[in-house]
Amino acid sequence: MDNCIFCKIINKEIPSTIVFEDDEILAFRDINPVAPVHVLVIPKKHISKLTELEENDEVIIGKIYKKINEIAKTEKIFEKGFRVIVNCGEDGGQEVGHLHFHLIGGKKLGTKICQ
Ligand code: 5GP
Ligand code: ZN
Repeated sequence: MDNCIFCKIINKEIPSTIVFEDDEILAFRDINPVAPVHVLVIPKKHISKLTELEENDEVIIGKIYKKINEIAKTEKIFEKGFRVIVNCGEDGGQEVGHLHFHLIGGKKLGTKICQ
């Protein structure tokens, strides 16, 4: 989509540190990490937010969760644990309008997940 920064990252118009890529999924390091591991995992299909899922998008969502497990292993946070966050819409704190899954770990995270 025009003017979507994550589509631009997918198209390599904006550089990023990629940790995984295939035909359907891109995973790259968050530019402003909140923990030692902070990876954004996104579908290459432009889906603006969780509430905009279309028919069959559940397939890519399932693949993303499987991939998150694999990335957690390569990032060495699989055993100790991690957090996956999807912000949705204005009240959910979503700033980038391309569905993304935050994979956060590498330290003991606080138990309060909202502020
Ligand atoms: P949101 O608040 O939409 O859930 O999260 C957006 C995330 O994207 C933020 O954690 C922010 O740091 C990250 N981000 C925004 N712009 C860029 C960028 O150009 N490159 C990378 N790697 N991350 C970005
Ligand atoms: Zn996009």
